[in-house]
Amino acid sequence: MNIILLGPPGAGKGTQAQRLVDSRDMMQLSTGDMLREARTSGTDMGKKVAAVMDAGNLVTDEIVIGLIREKLEAGGAKGGFIFDGFPRTLAQADALGELLTEMGQTLHCAIELQVNDEILVERILGRAADAVAAGGTARADDNEESLKTRLMAYYKQTSPLIGYYHAKGDLKAIDGLASMDDVAANIAQALD
Ligand code: AMP
Repeated sequence: MNIILLGPPGAGKGTQAQRLVDSRDMMQLSTGDMLREARTSGTDMGKKVAAVMDAGNLVTDEIVIGLIREKLEAGGAKGGFIFDGFPRTLAQADALGELLTEMGQTLHCAIELQVNDEILVERILGRAADAVAAGGTARADDNEESLKTRLMAYYKQTSPLIGYYHAKGDLKAIDGLASMDDVAANIAQALD
């Protein structure tokens, strides 16, 4: 069972993906994590995308589609793949459909985590403060300025995917403002 978690930054996609990994043996494919890893390991691609990410803009479709292709080809997801933070544009959504078809796989559904902007800003700035309080460093893009750009990128480039998956009959909307446990339970219900 392959699923997409769709929603703005701070909606809880990563948290819920991790729960599905633990409970269903699924594999989380987060393009954000892959890009951050490329930066940490200092690959050419990582260097190329650093400034774009820090500003809160989307990196090119070509780069993220390439990353996803590699992971899909490597396989190994017993319970299926959870696409977290991908696709984020219509071109990425089309590419994902083609990749899955090539591999003889299908998409079970796209789960939209619905939240409101005020909560997102609170959650993300809270996540940055928690990271610092724990002696670490906040994500370079977890600041108010980049967050504005990330939200705008979401509304302009990613939110059209809600209509796209709805039209395909694949969309399930879930209240992302409920408690983490309730959101997880509602996702489980949507999947079963
Ligand atoms: P995330 O961890 O999903 O919030 O992603 C962090 C940043 O990585 C985003 O703000 C983008 O700059 C970049 N990114 C992650 N996934 C994608 C994607 N599917 N398409 C384009 N850029 C992405």
